[in-house]
Amino acid sequence: MIATRKNPVAAHKQLDVKKLIARLEKVHPDAKLDLDFTNPLELLIALILAAQARDDLVNKVTVELFKANRSAADYANTPLEKLESKIGKINFYRNKAKAIHNCCEQLVERFNGKVPDNLEDLVSLSGVGRKTANIVLANGFGQQAIGVDTHVMRLSQRMGFTKKTDPNKIEADLTVIVPEKQRVRFCHLMQYHGRRICLAKKPKCPECTVKALCPFPGKTKA
Ligand code: SF4
Repeated sequence: MIATRKNPVAAHKQLDVKKLIARLEKVHPDAKLDLDFTNPLELLIALILAAQARDDLVNKVTVELFKANRSAADYANTPLEKLESKIGKINFYRNKAKAIHNCCEQLVERFNGKVPDNLEDLVSLSGVGRKTANIVLANGFGQQAIGVDTHVMRLSQRMGFTKKTDPNKIEADLTVIVPEKQRVRFCHLMQYHGRRICLAKKPKCPECTVKALCPFPGKTKA
């Protein structure tokens, strides 16, 4: 499905998305991915660590982790206990250490140690779901992919861009209405707006610059 005159609902939403991006750009010009990385491998490792963990904590832990591990082979050759001790401050560190270890073993065995730049291969890796894969493609390889995290999901639902709850279906709905060149920017802006204004429990609707575009029935009052 594409947004055309024959598909007026999608065309209307696409117009709203364009307005939304323009308005959010003014209030969150600093929006970006908050994880520190210098290459796709570091980004992939940081994203595995960031599941249900704060980005600033992940950034603290990865300073030493990235210094000690320069390649996928480095992670694959590090004993699991040692990897666990390096990321022990992060929640679920045992599972995450195992995921990193397995993922890097697969990178070495199947991809010559390189992070693949396509969705199919990325999601075949241990510990890598579609959201993580899309964020790697978007931020590590400059592709216009939509990673549906908790903020993108919540705001897209509140803004009326989707009625779905499954992230894969939300991604499909957004792919129809978010202009291709702006998909990564859209995600970064939604994430910042979700953290600063459109909070999960009590959104700050009275001070929201996109409230006129938002049909959410549970808007808060001043
Ligand atoms: S008006 Fe409220 S619910 Fe709608 S986007 Fe703004 S903060 Fe979120």
